[in-house]
Amino acid sequence: LPDPEVAAPTGDDVAGLLPRPGAESDKYRRGVVGIAAGSDTYTGAAVLSAGGAVRAGAGMVRFASTAEPVRLVRARWPEAVTTVLDPSAPEGLLDEVGRVQAWVLGPGLGTGPEAHAVARAVLAADVPVLVDADGLTLVAKDRTLLRRAAPTVLTPHAGELSRLLGVPRERIEAARLDHVRRAAAELGATVLLKGSTTLVAEEHRPVRVNTTGTPWLATGGTGDVLSGITGALLAAGLSGYDAASCAAYIHGLAARIAARGGAAGGGDGRRGEAPIAALDVAEA
Ligand code: AMP
Ligand code: MG
Repeated sequence: LPDPEVAAPTGDDVAGLLPRPGAESDKYRRGVVGIAAGSDTYTGAAVLSAGGAVRAGAGMVRFASTAEPVRLVRARWPEAVTTVLDPSAPEGLLDEVGRVQAWVLGPGLGTGPEAHAVARAVLAADVPVLVDADGLTLVAKDRTLLRRAAPTVLTPHAGELSRLLGVPRERIEAARLDHVRRAAAELGATVLLKGSTTLVAEEHRPVRVNTTGTPWLATGGTGDVLSGITGALLAAGLSGYDAASCAAYIHGLAARIAARGGAAGGGDGRRGEAPIAALDVAEA
């Protein structure tokens, strides 16, 4: 039988795919994730992305950025190992950061020449790279950045996908399944399209649909948390397709738990749901 065109992984499916540390685990085997995010103008996205990676169980988070995001990430996530990049030579970033098993590129990075140089350096690495936010703007302007052998995961919302494909946003909203499939084929990447439902497409695979989220997720910064979760799962060795679909599931569930007053509140729904901040999602 041919694969169904659409699949909706259950909690058991996701639990079966998620890495669990064994007795012999060490932090390097659990996965080292590099994060190239943030700029002196946009610092918050970097803190949220690093938090998503720390909380999703990365063995180690290596965070590289300019001075101000580094200062804030260190203050909020002392677990992260940080590197201040030389803004005049951002391409030296890979040597300075050291070995990682996957990269997260883009949240709050900016879209100027220095950000472009960072994107070029990260995407030249021979490890999986998750590209989000400003990283997506950079690859939409310069698709040659995506010519690489290692897996790439792109996590656009409809507006970002519109820029990537050069298709008006309304047309994407009207046919999300078609466009996420087309993007995966055209860009040679795993594509996770965000929205009230999340779609994950990869060529020759059924599109995975995730509905664990809550409308309370529609607030600034939650997408940055998702980038960190996905990066941690990529670094742990999941494929782009599995990392993206498991991350969407966990992120949606974490948001529901946070909206119900956190795990300590029982998460049983009796309190009803209340607004959440993006950092609550990382912390749930
Ligand atoms: P971003 O657009 O990068 O800020 O990411 C927003 C996050 O919130 C994504 O994970 C979306 O899938 C999720 N999201 C946005 N709106 C909704 C909604 N109405 N219901 C459920 N999830 C949503
Ligand atoms: Mg975003």
